[in-house]
Amino acid sequence: GYFGGIGGASRKGILVKGANFIDILADLDIAVFDKTGTLTEGVFKVSRIVPVNGFTQEELLRFAAYAEAYSNHPISRSIIEAYGKPINDSEIKGYKEIAGRGVMAKVKDKQILAGNEKLLKSEEIEANLDNKGIVGTVVHIAIDDRYAGYILIADKIRQDAAKTIKELKNLGIKKVVMLTGDAKETAENVAKELGIDEYYAELLPEEKVEKLEELKYYNGSRNNTAFIGDGINDAPVLACADVGIAMGGLGSDAAIEAADIVIMEDALSKIPQAVKMARYTKKIIM
Ligand code: ADP
Ligand code: MG
Repeated sequence: GYFGGIGGASRKGILVKGANFIDILADLDIAVFDKTGTLTEGVFKVSRIVPVNGFTQEELLRFAAYAEAYSNHPISRSIIEAYGKPINDSEIKGYKEIAGRGVMAKVKDKQILAGNEKLLKSEEIEANLDNKGIVGTVVHIAIDDRYAGYILIADKIRQDAAKTIKELKNLGIKKVVMLTGDAKETAENVAKELGIDEYYAELLPEEKVEKLEELKYYNGSRNNTAFIGDGINDAPVLACADVGIAMGGLGSDAAIEAADIVIMEDALSKIPQAVKMARYTKKIIM
């Protein structure tokens, strides 16, 4: 019965928090994925440092690393790793992280911003920059309200992502959607490469929730939705989906708390496997 189903799933590294989620998964209509850390590895590497307005590459990287020092975002970790030197905490004051946007801090006597275009806009800083043809995630830096350039970081699509999405479609899932806080160009590249039906970019955590609510009622009917995420900037949408699935490989407590199903390792292939198992379990009971 259900307990057999849940037990069988847990032996395969899929933890289900209640029998009702097996029902939902068996009748899933829309699968919604987070991008960074879920469809991609979330392991970033700094690939270019582009200062403007007279700043040097070293200065740009140093200020960015200090501003990002207290953040656990994969983007921050990559910048700190590229800097590679010890960070003197006493030089950092007034640190603030803005979910889905970036960070702010006073480093020595300078006010530093590091984040995306939304962050620059909200602080009324002009990035006089041609963004065309840049592949990767851009972290803009401002120093004392002046645009100072950007750091380009590259992420990799997970090797099993395309296959996972194809399998979900073969299982009759009506729609596969991607929600991301990242820029449109980056999102478009990933969506195209993976055969994702729809994507929405530049979303804040609360806008991901709004999008998911829309998808629940897409096409005038009530659709069963699953959201698959890593818990970084997506715990609210994990909680809002009919079934929230956390990729537990990174061990984010927020994700494990907010989710209904936890995938114990970072294997996307467990998602179609969970759908198949849910259908099988339901058939035995009925
Ligand atoms: P996703 O929705 O793809 O998982 P996030 O919501 O975690 O991505 O982040 C969205 C965007 O916000 C990032 O692509 C980046 O532009 C910006 N951002 C978030 N946190 C940081 C940070 N600590 N430093 C710089 N930029 C950040
Ligand atoms: Mg993420």
